[in-house]
Amino acid sequence: MIYLRTQYRATKNFSKHSIIDLIRFSPGGISRAEISRQLQLPRTTVTGIIRELKAGGIVHEIEAAAQSGNKPVRVEINPSYAYVVGIDLGATHGTYILADASARVVREMEIALDVRSGPVQILDLIDQNLDKLLDIAGVERSKVMAIGMGVPGPVVSRDGVVSAPPIMPGWDGYPIRAELHRRWPCPITINNDAELGALGEWAYGVGRGEDNLAYIKVGTGIGAGFLIDGQVYHGVTGGAGEIGHMTIQSDGPLCSCGNRGCLESIAGGEAIARRTMEYLHQGRKSSLSAIHPLERLGARDVFAAASRGDALAQVVMREMGVHIGTATANLVNLFNPGIVVIGGGGSQVGDLLLEPVRQAVGKRSLRISSRSVRITTALLGRRSSAMGAVAKALSSVLHQFDQAEAGLRSGGNWLQPE
Ligand SMILES: [Zn+2]
Repeated sequence: MIYLRTQYRATKNFSKHSIIDLIRFSPGGISRAEISRQLQLPRTTVTGIIRELKAGGIVHEIEAAAQSGNKPVRVEINPSYAYVVGIDLGATHGTYILADASARVVREMEIALDVRSGPVQILDLIDQNLDKLLDIAGVERSKVMAIGMGVPGPVVSRDGVVSAPPIMPGWDGYPIRAELHRRWPCPITINNDAELGALGEWAYGVGRGEDNLAYIKVGTGIGAGFLIDGQVYHGVTGGAGEIGHMTIQSDGPLCSCGNRGCLESIAGGEAIARRTMEYLHQGRKSSLSAIHPLERLGARDVFAAASRGDALAQVVMREMGVHIGTATANLVNLFNPGIVVIGGGGSQVGDLLLEPVRQAVGKRSLRISSRSVRITTALLGRRSSAMGAVAKALSSVLHQFDQAEAGLRSGGNWLQPE
């Protein structure tokens, strides 16, 4: 009997979590009838659960505009239920997004930093920047119900630490989540930035409705995140998706990871800056030669110049696109994704990067995979990872109200809050 009751409760909570996720990822809301149809749940079950969610303030119902007389009622997440913060910590920048419960961006901020300054200094800076963000938005610190954060390295998610990240020296094993939690006593999730990019684009971007998605973040580092059968794929220890360390030239330049010829050593941020400087030293003309001293030139300058139409920067980006294309062709052969999304700072150059990548996939991937894959830039642009972090934070908030009771944390199909 006890078993049966637990079983009933578990099933009910499972339905509740499924309903919440369906509502939150249906833009413009969804009707009860549609929920019942899509989840194959009886109408009475749906009505009962919606009533509970309404009473808890998590959802509300709105009357959609209708052409005919009867107005269909749609269920939506109640935006004012909570505030959450999504952080994308990059090698050279931090992006901060304050969002409401419906994932609408309330405020956002991007501030330059150097991740190599180490965890103590950077976490202090993040703390100050969050205060600044809330201050501008006029939201009190205590109103933030959860924080999601992405970092540019492999993450042991359950522990909230990074593991030997090549572009984050000094961070290996540092208790990031525990330290943040000391200052922000709310649920905090730490994930790899590219993984969050995949999640962000799936939830709110160009990858909506795609269950098999690969996201490639092109910035100072190059990383990939995978959604396989609708689930983010971490690998056994959080090391999945390190496409930046895929070998492209076995005798190529030395990489930050210690190997030679990795994609990142040939087409990552430092390589882009190096290649551009080589051209400038050869006397090639470019608006970038105005940078003084020239050693300060970074990949961001090249991305910006290329999208402004600077011919030399465009040549460099096309060259990089060939290498990124080779890696993408390998990835397409391995995973057979429905969509490959190119994101991060490099995505702002658009077709300059997309064209060589598409060509490489067309040439090198097997037809069965290359014909069925869409290759495109991120709809959320530089925000993909920060919005993925928002999605993670919202998972903690929207699913935590009865998580302990659910007993389904590992088996549920919702986006596990960890
Ligand atoms: Zn490497």
